[in-house]
Amino acid sequence: MKMISRIEFIKTCSLFGISLPFQTVLKACSSGSEEPIIAGDFEGTVLIVGAGAAGMATAYLLQQLGVEYQILEADSSYGGRFRSTNDFADFPIPLGAEWLHVSEAELPAIVNDSAVQVTTVTQGYSATDTYGFYRNGVLTVEEAGAGINSYIDQKFIGSSWFDFFDQYIVPSIRNKMRFNTHIVSIDYSGDKVIASEDNGNQYEADKLVLTVPLKILQLGEIRFGPSLPNNKQRAIANANIWGGIKIFLKFTEKFYPTFLEFDDSETNEGQRTYYDAAYGQNTSDNVLGLFAVGKQAEPYQNLRGDAQRDYVLNELDVIFNGKASETFQEILVQNWNEQPFARAAYLADVAPSATSRIMAESVDDKLYFAGDSYTQEDDWSAVHNAARSARDAVRELIR
Ligand SMILES: Cc1cc2nc3c(=O)[nH]c(=O)nc-3n(C[C@H](O)[C@H](O)[C@H](O)COP(=O)(O)OP(=O)(O)OC[C@H]3O[C@@H](n4cnc5c(N)ncnc54)[C@H](O)[C@@H]3O)c2cc1C
Repeated sequence: MKMISRIEFIKTCSLFGISLPFQTVLKACSSGSEEPIIAGDFEGTVLIVGAGAAGMATAYLLQQLGVEYQILEADSSYGGRFRSTNDFADFPIPLGAEWLHVSEAELPAIVNDSAVQVTTVTQGYSATDTYGFYRNGVLTVEEAGAGINSYIDQKFIGSSWFDFFDQYIVPSIRNKMRFNTHIVSIDYSGDKVIASEDNGNQYEADKLVLTVPLKILQLGEIRFGPSLPNNKQRAIANANIWGGIKIFLKFTEKFYPTFLEFDDSETNEGQRTYYDAAYGQNTSDNVLGLFAVGKQAEPYQNLRGDAQRDYVLNELDVIFNGKASETFQEILVQNWNEQPFARAAYLADVAPSATSRIMAESVDDKLYFAGDSYTQEDDWSAVHNAARSARDAVRELIR
């Protein structure tokens, strides 16, 4: 199925008179009917590098199939780019992935077990939500209108992408995760695949599923022996990967609309949107989020500490007549460019689909790729894509 691209989708939505925030795809574009994942001839062992959405989804499926595996994760915990924190508000704050961009049917598809009832609650947006647009020094606020119901993303209520994985996926794979294990080279020249840390520790298996962010490969942080095929090397070198930042601000009052957009909220160079991060939550905390990727993230990323806080408060004060500084309580910043095992946000929405398709191809029946930039779909850079790509990689690997 050809999915509508995000840019095309934004255009479609503008026909309804609404401007969508970002990363929005048609709810109807769910996983559809997929081939079941059935044990094949494979009887060997598997290494999985990375314990984000794709690595954990891969491990979970292998566990269901009874295949022996181990996860090697550089960080001190799991989650990758969908980590969240419970320390800032009385509901989980997603530091990376926040919205479910497809239908709720995606959640049981990840769990892949009809005996398990998924009770995670998500909520879409409503026609009476307010949409702010700031242009040429003037703020216009309108109701979103009916068109929004059929299209827009869903928020996790009282939970997050991280909590969903924590509840349904992690319990069965927890004891197979090895943390603080930073892989710097992968040798697939022999019968076995060998992954090595820079301290010389080596891990060996029959096959390896690589799930590290594409930026990690672009920075040359993992050496391959033999080198990856030329088409993959070109795709890595030319990949348009956006940096990204999320900033959360807590206020004593809610003075802002559900979404606040600007002329540069959606361009080929990046995106930025302020949004009500407490939307739908059972809370009295007023939390405004800022999501910015690509070029639009840079002004925020170039500042630190008080200067960064003052820049954001000033931007909001100008729009809301000083309300931001007057009611400000706390700030939380997550700059993904500074996360050592991500180094960016994700493959740009405007990247050609060939990039992730080429990256998804396996090499020599030994090296497999799963993750948000390694997918056969015409859409990428989202948790559901990472999980779908894990299903694809496992289907191929166990044949
Ligand atoms: C700001 C932001 C907002 C986003 N918003 C959304 C959203 O609303 N909805 C949505 O669906 N998606 C969103 N995404 C995208 C989503 O977070 C990712 O697509 C998804 O989490 C990627 O999962 P992954 O498993 O492919 O990669 P990751 O989660 O990055 O996992 C890769 C793992 O590999 C580990 N690793 C890296 N290098 C090494 C190494 N050398 N050795 C061993 N381990 C290593 C990392 O520590 C990490 O745990 C957002 C992302 C960002 C940054």
